[in-house]
Amino acid sequence: MRQDAYELLGVQRGADERAIKKAFRALARQLHPDVNSHDPAAEEKFKAAAEAYEVLSDPERRGVYDRHGWDGLDSRGFGQASHGFGSFSDIFEAFFGGDPFGGGRGGGPGPLQGGDIAVEVEISLQQAARSASVDVAYDSVAPCERCHGNRAEPGTPIETCERCGGAGQLRAVSRTAFGQMVRAQACDVCAGDGKVATTPCVECSGRGLRAVRRELTVDVPAGIADGQRIRLSGRGHSGERGGPAGDLFVLVGVAEDERFLRDGSDLVAVVDVSAPAAALGTEVSVPTLDGEETVEVPAGTQPGTVVTLRGRGMPTVGSGRAGDQQVVLNVVIPRNLTSRQRELLAELRDSVTDANMGEGARESLLSKVRRALR
Ligand SMILES: [Zn+2]
Ligand SMILES: [Zn+2]
Repeated sequence: MRQDAYELLGVQRGADERAIKKAFRALARQLHPDVNSHDPAAEEKFKAAAEAYEVLSDPERRGVYDRHGWDGLDSRGFGQASHGFGSFSDIFEAFFGGDPFGGGRGGGPGPLQGGDIAVEVEISLQQAARSASVDVAYDSVAPCERCHGNRAEPGTPIETCERCGGAGQLRAVSRTAFGQMVRAQACDVCAGDGKVATTPCVECSGRGLRAVRRELTVDVPAGIADGQRIRLSGRGHSGERGGPAGDLFVLVGVAEDERFLRDGSDLVAVVDVSAPAAALGTEVSVPTLDGEETVEVPAGTQPGTVVTLRGRGMPTVGSGRAGDQQVVLNVVIPRNLTSRQRELLAELRDSVTDANMGEGARESLLSKVRRALR
């Protein structure tokens, strides 16, 4: 039994095009033989994933596969023999995130900018508050050191491509209902170079480029929000034929901190205070970005009272200003009373008068509820 294409990529049956592409790219990076040379099974897995991707990324073939499975594809001429999976450009595109022919469509020889790369990092709220340095590692395309990117084994000649006569392009003429259509394509023999190495470089198999692992320390500015990205220009894939390198995008995830809610540059923390302590007045320990802090709770503090710690929230990127920390005092009614506690509370209850209740508290609670409902 051949493995299910969706299973091979680890996506749901209803996955959209983007999710499928994303899953395949992640797998390709992990399994590509250039990277994963230590795992002999990786190449087989890579081929299987590439095949699944070829099917699921093409709406027509995906439709056939969904209805009739692999056999259906084979019997309808969509089999791998007729199409050929994992063609060089598909793999290159999936692995390196760019078209090796520079958008190939009509692009002849000339400088080619390298593709962009995105990497994800996750930092804590604490790190987000106080500028952090994070290490990132990623795979990128760099010129092959052995052939210096010219694709030929050192010392062997490079000849003008016979197929395209050195132009780097081919013109494909097709007849359609609207007449003849001429389309320029990158030459499939020289990949748009116009030149062909008689003996391909053994290090890069004549590709001129290699995948290299790069490591980099990235400074994350204080106050960064979850999902923001940092752009490092020129740190992406190398360009070709003298073109500039692409950019590196660092997508910063800020992990949730269960002690705080983040509201823009403000932080909100909730602290429990027992009802008797709130009635008598007390001190509570409050978590802040700088550690625990003691906060005064005045006698008669009501549920939901908010204490503001000025300037103790998150900084704003690019400015020195910081938000506030709001501390919500959650007055807790004691439960699981012992008989002694019941006695004391009953005595307290019987002694409470209107003077202890106060209109103010109800008014302020009502206005808070109104605000919340608006
Ligand atoms: Zn090389
Ligand atoms: Zn050519």
